[in-house]
Amino acid sequence: MSSNHAATQISDLVTANHILANEGVFDGFGHVSLRHDQNPERFWIARSMAPSLVTAEDIVECDFEGVVHDSQGRKSYLERFIHCAIFKARPDVMAIIHSHSPAIIPFGVTGARLRPICHMSGFLGSTTPVFEIRDTVGETSDMLIRNHALGEALAQTLGGHAVALLRGHGNVVVGHSIKQAVFRAIYTESNARLQAQAMQMGEPVFLSEDEARNSDETNSGQIERPWQLWKSKLSGDPQA
Ligand SMILES: [Zn+2]
Repeated sequence: MSSNHAATQISDLVTANHILANEGVFDGFGHVSLRHDQNPERFWIARSMAPSLVTAEDIVECDFEGVVHDSQGRKSYLERFIHCAIFKARPDVMAIIHSHSPAIIPFGVTGARLRPICHMSGFLGSTTPVFEIRDTVGETSDMLIRNHALGEALAQTLGGHAVALLRGHGNVVVGHSIKQAVFRAIYTESNARLQAQAMQMGEPVFLSEDEARNSDETNSGQIERPWQLWKSKLSGDPQA
């Protein structure tokens, strides 16, 4: 925790919390994690609290069993099993975001699948999988990913995708870097809004699989630009 690496990782994670709250992806809920760059079987995440209030002192280290390693014995989010299972299943993933960003909810509860409506969301690929919690625990759950079995089932639904929706709950977004994950979470929400609008007007033409993949490749080289913009909007924020 004393190395410069850790300081940079923690600083980026704090900024990600604030950007996601400021851009309407997070509200009082939602969490973002970052794989520990010195210990790939652990990750950084905030203690259980509202994302916009997170500071560097609130970041704790968690392992894949869901155990929080914190000298002060603080607890992290109940749904940390999302992060444990996905980091374990996807060695390519460096950052994970779970949010209840509102515009995507309708796509998890209807037959309408979230698909890339414009080039900024090519990372969605041909379609977005939906996690059905009832397939694991029946109809009596509180909808939360509160244990390993649910985390693993969600990771399986996500597969190799960048985004999965959780029916009646929210979504999970992954990235090869924290900046890419933030980019994807913000554009997932905006894609959902645009797709809902387009569907009211008629039958949308979605990006083809090739168009989606090529756009994603191009945009992956451009994520620093919006990150700087979103960061600059956090005025008066000492962590920004
Ligand atoms: Zn949740």
